[in-house]
This record gives sequence, structure tokens and C-alpha cells, in this order.
Amino acid sequence: MAFERLIGQNRVKETLSELFLSGRVGHAYLFNGPEGIGKKSFAKEFAGLVMCPSSSDGKRCGVCECCVLMDNSTNPDYKVIGCGEGKNTVSVETVRNLQDDIVTAPVFSAKKIYVIDTAEKMTEQAQNALLKILEEPPSYAMILLMCNNILSMLGTIRSRVIRIDFSRNTNDEIKEKYEQLCIMQNRKPDVEKTELLCSYADGIMGRVTEFLDSDTLDEKRKAVFNCLKGLLKREIDAKLRMTEIMGNKGTNYEFTLFTMMSFLRDVMIASRFGRKAILQNPDFKEEIGVLGRDIGYYRAVRCLEIVDECYKNLRRNAAPDITIDSMLIQLRES
Ligand SMILES: [Zn+2]
Repeated sequence: MAFERLIGQNRVKETLSELFLSGRVGHAYLFNGPEGIGKKSFAKEFAGLVMCPSSSDGKRCGVCECCVLMDNSTNPDYKVIGCGEGKNTVSVETVRNLQDDIVTAPVFSAKKIYVIDTAEKMTEQAQNALLKILEEPPSYAMILLMCNNILSMLGTIRSRVIRIDFSRNTNDEIKEKYEQLCIMQNRKPDVEKTELLCSYADGIMGRVTEFLDSDTLDEKRKAVFNCLKGLLKREIDAKLRMTEIMGNKGTNYEFTLFTMMSFLRDVMIASRFGRKAILQNPDFKEEIGVLGRDIGYYRAVRCLEIVDECYKNLRRNAAPDITIDSMLIQLRES
């Protein structure tokens, strides 16, 4: 089977392999799942498979010009497009450029493949332009949409693509990825930190790489915890500092909200069970204990609900600025 190099997502592997082996590879796919789950890695493997002119038994040959160029990330028949530097949307011009480019046949490969990264950021105009391409694509073309919020896609697009859902990885898969990366980087896995790794990764493969750079991670966690503490103590500048951590239009909200929830969970448990509590953030044990005593169990529960509600609203595509602002005010006034 293809996809041997990738850990987890067995259902996705089976579906894509079956489609390939049955000769029913379509023209358009939508890979749906959270940021960092591995959609792009799967897109590249799948593309490599369908592009290779000499594949057999569901595997690419690995030695033809197409395969060699893919391994070097220099195959001109494989293109990844997205928002572009400094932009927050995938514009209609971007899709029109794709429309102009798609008419020329692939040079080295059996197929010409376009990956649209952060497809949920396509403007409505861009999606309508894409729709025209999806209605009548050239026989050699394939479009792979990487999407982390399917509700942002027009129904007309959704009905013309094969949807592949990615699910969160298990803790064992997260650990396997961690060990694999450690071997590649010639470093020793830190067994004591694997619980923290699993709770931080929260089923998302991409966070393992970030975790390896644990100095940055520890700094970020510390910054979030200090801001959270400031908010709960109603310090004047805490709200502004937290807004800065969240990034422009809440770009870092996934990590920040997850970290806030993880700490609030710990504060909640510590306030109820004291020193016996088993924490997700044991390296902050003392500070969590103090905060737990300061704010108490019920306020911690309420705060956890507030952050969770904000997270759900953002997933439903609520306006980030207002949603985050409202959450921070509620936390401060809780
Ligand atoms: Zn090949």
C-alpha cells in the first residue's frame, strides 16, 4: 500500500488506495480536518501515486523522472497554491491564474495536480471561479482542496468533490511520530514528557514537530498561563496581552485556547483535589495550586465553559475579533 511513510489515518489510506486501485480516481477532492492533522502530507503522497506513469500494485515506482522530481519537491506538474504572503484570503485572481495554467498538459507526469491550501479562505468569487473549473476539468487535471472548515465552502463546490475526512490521531500515533522525529533528528526521546506531549498535541500530528522545539513551546505556554492568571486576577493589561498572543484576527486561537483550557482544567482539578490532582501541566504544579486556591472550583468550571464556548463559536466561523474579545471580557468578569 502507498502512504507507508505516513503514520495513522488508516481509513483515509484505505479509501484513497481503493479509489486508485479501482481506477476511479476523480478530478477533485476535499481533504477535511483540523490544521496540522496531516492533510498536505497525504495530498503529496496521493499526488505522487497518481502522477507516476509507471505505478503498479498501488505504489509509485520511485525512479521515473516524475517520482524523482516529486521527491525533490521540484515537479512542475504539482502545484500548491494558497493565500500568498501577507494575505488572509485566496483571491479570485489566484483561481483565475490556475484556470489559465490548467489548460497546458503535464510535462513529466500522468496527471497535473493543484493543491489549494486553506481552501476555506477562498472568497466567494474565488469559489465561483473554481466551480467553473470543476465543471469541466481537463482529463489530466486533479484539484485537491485542503480545508479546515467545511462550512466555509459553497454547497455547489462540496457537491462536486470527493470528501475525505481526517480524524484526530490517537496518543499512540502521536508518540510514534515523536519517536520517528527524534530518530531523524538524532536525539533521545524525553519519556517523562510524553504525557505533556499527548495532551498538548491533542491528536494533531503537526504539533509534535513544534513540541520538539520545546523551548519555544514552554515559552508560549508560560505566556498564555501568565495572561490567563492576569485576566482572572482582573489585571488591567492582561486582556490586551492575551489579544496579542491570539494574533491578528485570532490566527493563533487553536493553540492559545487549547492551552487556556488545559490550564483551566488543571486549576479546576487542583482546587478540588489539592496536591493529589494529576495535572496535564505538571511543570506548573505550584502556580496552578495557588491559582486554584485563589479562584476556587466553581469559577474555574465557569471559565472553562467560557473558553470552550468561544472555541466552538470560532469553529463555526464566528467573527474572530468580536468572539475573542467577548470571551476575554467574560473571563475577567467571571
Ligand atoms: Zn514513478
